[in-house]
Amino acid sequence: MGLIQASRGTRDILPDEVSYWQSVEAIARDLLNRAAYREIRTPIFEETALFERGIGEATDVVGKEMYTFADRGDRSITLRPEGTAGVVRAYIQHNLHAQGGVQRLWYTGAMFRYERPQAGRQRQFHQLGVEVLGSADPRADAEVIGLAADILNTVGIRDWSLSLNSVGTLGDRQQYREALVAYFQPYLQDLDPDSQDRLHRNPLRILDSKDPKTQRIAQDAPSILDYLSEPSTAHFNRVQELLQRLGIAYQLNPCLVRGLDYYTHTAFEFQLDTLGAQSTVCGGGRYDGLVRELGGPETPAVGWAIGLERLAILIQQQGASMAPTVDIYCAARGAEAEAQALQVVQTLRQAKLAVEVDLSGSAFGKQMKRADRSGAVLCLIFGEEEAQQQTVQMKWLTSGEQIVQRQSELFDQISELREKILLSKPTKKI
Ligand code: ATP
Ligand code: MG
Repeated sequence: MGLIQASRGTRDILPDEVSYWQSVEAIARDLLNRAAYREIRTPIFEETALFERGIGEATDVVGKEMYTFADRGDRSITLRPEGTAGVVRAYIQHNLHAQGGVQRLWYTGAMFRYERPQAGRQRQFHQLGVEVLGSADPRADAEVIGLAADILNTVGIRDWSLSLNSVGTLGDRQQYREALVAYFQPYLQDLDPDSQDRLHRNPLRILDSKDPKTQRIAQDAPSILDYLSEPSTAHFNRVQELLQRLGIAYQLNPCLVRGLDYYTHTAFEFQLDTLGAQSTVCGGGRYDGLVRELGGPETPAVGWAIGLERLAILIQQQGASMAPTVDIYCAARGAEAEAQALQVVQTLRQAKLAVEVDLSGSAFGKQMKRADRSGAVLCLIFGEEEAQQQTVQMKWLTSGEQIVQRQSELFDQISELREKILLSKPTKKI
């Protein structure tokens, strides 16, 4: 029998890498808290119908990529492929709209799509997303875009580019659809099979095709921006004006669409060339029709989702080291010394210091080598003599300075100790 490995398209995030994830989450949580966003946690699986209605059956996600199965009670269940549908379901189910005003929500967690695995594309992946429900104001669009930019900048990713478009309203798109069909019809044979299929079902999605030949044809297609109604144009102009005021650079890309009926107005993506084919790290937009579509009251909404695997790749490309290190390493040898060491360590940890204990029982020379590798700035050494006298050797690994101290005095001077440790630590990126 062969060894069992992680399923295709899934990955273990090992301890060395988890620190990247934790610092990204910490940065996002901090920025979002300060912008009055509250975290929401929804189930990992939902009724299949939620995604069929919430994402749309004409999309790749619903058409080809969902993890759908019948549970033991013969219900059709789907592992969530994205976060918005679940958040909107919860918003409606728990009457969050009844609280009035604007709900600013964020979430993070695993998402599931049956895709061909490649760099930056997995079957289980993770997103962090925000949804602002209950505001049609262009300031909400600018706010969420600004937050995504802040998160990317703060984790150290600054060379992103932002593509921006407006898909108007359902009404705006009716005429546009016709113009698109008329434009693509003569090229039908040159389009990729998916796009041929979409010509009459959902022609806007052809603009989104990843096929190079289709993309070339799409470049000269009519622009949605020429079909926007006056209020839609005003909304989009205001979003752009606000982004300029915030100093957020963007490029207009009339091919950027979210081809669903309930997507409206602003659509945007943050991209990085260094990510290669999977260049989008964050995608989002306005979806004023979705809450209604899922059975709730008419509620304008806007949001985005960041792909955390792609973000992790970018952070690693920057070469930032985020391995967490302990403050203090503790070496001990001999039964009584080892027991005293554990007691001291417990008290140090209660005083908020990070301490690693050497459990090997090997010679002090070997324990000291491990102390050097641990990243600690201070090593505490407990031998037989120290145990007898209730003292401890304190060796500063940064300077080599070594002193003997009574264990009881160590605790009296804990704040000085903490300060000295902080000063000796090399400053970390991020
Ligand atoms: P793509 O065009 O790359 O397939 P998408 O339009 O399907 O992306 P969205 O549904 O907008 O993606 O999801 C938002 C973000 O989630 C994407 O920009 C990407 O960073 C990330 N993402 C989407 N699918 C995957 C996946 N299979 N593996 C890893 N990250 C993903
Ligand atoms: Mg996709």
